[in-house]
Parts: sequence; C-alpha cells; structure tokens
Amino acid sequence: MRDVIIVGGGPGGLLLGHFLEEHGIDYQLFERGKIAQSWRLMRHGMKLLSPAVPGVDWTSLTLKYPLWALHGVQRPFPTREDFLCYIDAFAREHLLRIVENTSVTRAAVAPGGFSVETSAGQVSCRFLVIATGSQSIPAYPDIPGIASNPYVIHSSDFIHCMTYSGRRVLIIGGGNSAAEIAIELAGTAEVTLCTRRPLRYFSGTGDLEDIRGSSESTLKECLRFRIIALRESDPAVLVSGRRVRFESGEEEEFDRVLCATGYRPAWIPVDGGDVQADGDGYPVVSRTGESSVPGMYFCGSLARFNRRCAFIHGFRNYVEKVFWDIADRL
Ligand SMILES: Cc1cc2nc3c(=O)[nH]c(=O)nc-3n(C[C@H](O)[C@H](O)[C@H](O)COP(=O)(O)OP(=O)(O)OC[C@H]3O[C@@H](n4cnc5c(N)ncnc54)[C@H](O)[C@@H]3O)c2cc1C
Repeated sequence: MRDVIIVGGGPGGLLLGHFLEEHGIDYQLFERGKIAQSWRLMRHGMKLLSPAVPGVDWTSLTLKYPLWALHGVQRPFPTREDFLCYIDAFAREHLLRIVENTSVTRAAVAPGGFSVETSAGQVSCRFLVIATGSQSIPAYPDIPGIASNPYVIHSSDFIHCMTYSGRRVLIIGGGNSAAEIAIELAGTAEVTLCTRRPLRYFSGTGDLEDIRGSSESTLKECLRFRIIALRESDPAVLVSGRRVRFESGEEEEFDRVLCATGYRPAWIPVDGGDVQADGDGYPVVSRTGESSVPGMYFCGSLARFNRRCAFIHGFRNYVEKVFWDIADRL
C-alpha cells in the first residue's frame, strides 16, 4: 500500500509530488498521457497570460526553480512551449515518481484508505489526491441546435488559423480564449465575436478576470476597424446547421461556430464515498484540500479555494497546505 497516490501530472499534481519527494514520503503519481498532458494539447505558440520575470513570477511551480531562469524563455510572457519545457524538466530533474500513459479510472473507499483502479491494474493507498484539473469537460452553451451540430466546435479543438482561411467563423464567448482565437483568426477568416454581456477590459476594471487575451489593444483595434465584427450583448439563441439567430432577432450564416465557453470540472468516480460538490460543480474542500470523503484530497485548479485557483499563482500555495496536512497525518 502506497502512502499517497496522486492522479494527474499537471502543475498541481507535480508540485505536490515534488513536496512529497523532498520529504521522503512514499507516493506514486499517475498521468493518463505524458507529463502536463493538458498543456501539450493547448494551442501551439500560445502565450501564457501570467508574467514570469524575477519579482513578478506567476508561472513557476516553486520560486526555488523559476521558469524565467531557464535559457531562452520568452519574457515577460512565456509561450506554451517554454512552459512545457519547464514543467517537463521540473518533473524529470526532481526525479518525480510518475507513471505516464496510465489512466486512473475509479477509486473505492477501502479499509485504511483507498483502492484505485488504473489502466495498468489495481493499487492501494492511504491518501488519495485528485489533481486532474478543472478543464476536464469542454462546456458548450445551452443553445438549441448546438449539440451534435457538425459545424460547431469548441475552443479546445482549435488548432491553427489556416484551417479557417476565408471562412466565416462565429466565436461565442467573451473571455480569454475567445479574444485570443479571434485575434489569431483575424485577417485570415471572417470573424464575428458574440457575447452575452458588454466586454470588460483589464485596463478599465483592474480585475484579473477581465484580461482579454494576451493583447487587449490588438483586440480593441481589430474591433474598431471591424477586422473582427462584434455582436456585444447579442448572444446566439438558436443554431440550425450553419444558420445562427441572435437575441436581436437577426440571423446570419457561418461556416463554423466556435464555442469559447470554458470547461466544466469533473473527477473520477469514488465508490463508497460521497464527494460533495458546490453549485459550480467543484468539489467542496476543507482549508487544506480534504474533500467530504476522509483521506481524499483535491489539489491544483480543481480545488477552488478561491477564483484565483484557476491559475498557478493562485493555487501553488494551497498545494503546500495539502502536502502539510497529509504529511502531518502520516
Ligand atoms: C487556454 C488556456 C490558457 C491558460 N493559461 C494559463 C496561464 O497563462 N497561466 C496559468 O497559471 N494558468 C493558465 N491556464 C490554466 C491552467 O490550466 C492551470 O493553471 C493549470 O494547468 C492547472 O493545473 P492542474 O494540475 O490543476 O490541471 P491540469 O494542468 O489540467 O493537469 C491535469 C492532468 O491530469 C491528467 N488526468 C486527467 N484525468 C486523469 C485520469 N483519470 N488519470 C490520470 N491522469 C489524468 C491530465 O492528462 C492532465 O495532465 C490556462 C488554461 C487554458 C485552457
């Protein structure tokens, strides 16, 4: 029986693994793909929104092992590739005990801990930590005609703007992904951005949630010159094939409808344990990350102690709290 099993080899799980490794605690981490698989699936060339420079380091897992210190990292905003190199090096240089390409499919409460089913067999542990991220399930808007529509895709499916060359693309959403993809497509495709509410900008509100992609001014300029068309506070209400009706009553045809509408959290089923969730679908956790099932913890972006926990700088201190709570009980 292992002391700790961590499910998920993203920033949250790897950081916890690092603390356990540093303190000589027995653990095993399972990752269904490669290290930081969720980042491998993100858009190529994407820039992180979190700055990483000495003094303002929002991206590194630990300040003792900073991202910006790696040779060649783009400052102040690293790229997805920079971050992947960093996180892969972090895991390998700290000799973290990771089993890659192995999914955890379910867990069960068992005497003294948990029994955990993986694609490579069954294992047991005293403490189980779920670090599978909050971006588990692409969330589509609840608009009639969206489901099973072959013209509809999610922002997580977006690969490169060339696929959309000369096409009419409607982007539903007004957040970071919507803004960044709209900018990337601008000039290549005919882009319309449609939002439920007025667009808010970080420069106006100072609220981190109002950061609109990596370049607010580029977005504003594209909107101003109508390189990107904007249907502000005019959400889509019906989609029928390529045809979209908006709240204003107007209708337009598009070649693709791209939903940049975020994700829903989810986690593996746990037999014999009732993991309580809050109204947004996140697990309810104690101040140290323990769920309603004793001995089962959540860490990383799935443990939403506050809204900043969607980002590394928001959750990294909480991962340490999870670590100390488990270490104290061993
Ligand atoms: C487009 C985009 C841009 C972002 N930009 C930033 C940014 O600039 N700065 C920032 O701080 N954050 C950013 N984020 C948020 C980012 O996802 C989090 O900061 C961070 O990756 C969360 O780490 P995590 O470990 O909680 O989850 P994840 O990174 O999602 O890692 C979870 C891991 O668990 C694995 N897994 C899932 N299920 C199983 C299973 N059953 N068995 C085994 N393994 C499993 C997955 O393969 C994955 O590797 C961005 C997110 C997106 C989508």
